[in-house]
Amino acid sequence: MSSLQNLYQQVILDHAKHPHGHGLVDVPSGHLAGESHQVNTTCGDEVTLRVDVRSTDDGATLERVSWEGQGCSISQASASVMTELVTGQDLREVERLDAAFHALMGSRGKGLDDEEVLDALGDGTAFTGVSQYPARIKCALLGWAALKDSLARSGALADRPGGSDD
Ligand code: ZN
Repeated sequence: MSSLQNLYQQVILDHAKHPHGHGLVDVPSGHLAGESHQVNTTCGDEVTLRVDVRSTDDGATLERVSWEGQGCSISQASASVMTELVTGQDLREVERLDAAFHALMGSRGKGLDDEEVLDALGDGTAFTGVSQYPARIKCALLGWAALKDSLARSGALADRPGGSDD
């Protein structure tokens, strides 16, 4: 195993051991709240995730992501890394990060060659090696699926100004 792979593995293990955003937190009144429970049956991973969205003049900001879960270290670490990446971002940026991570997971182990995107993904790039294993990709995407569903349930995506492409 190369040292780079070791480094990646260490990032994943660290996040699995000390997950960011772990433990569901109440959403203050006046903010939009959404919650989603996602299960990856092939591996036995579970994530319950809650979003706290604050409307702003020019859109909406993802104030906080909190979650509970159990399962393999890839699923739990990925939810942790995702929480770090998306917290405090406006929803357009959250969408971009979601697309970037999905692109990375679709790269079959090759990774992405866009420096700017890799920079934005931060610790998320530690999952590059995971994209070689279709069964583990589901683990890595579980938290992201819960995030997307939570945002949809919160209603934050529907009333976003400029959110439509037509
Ligand atoms: Zn798993």
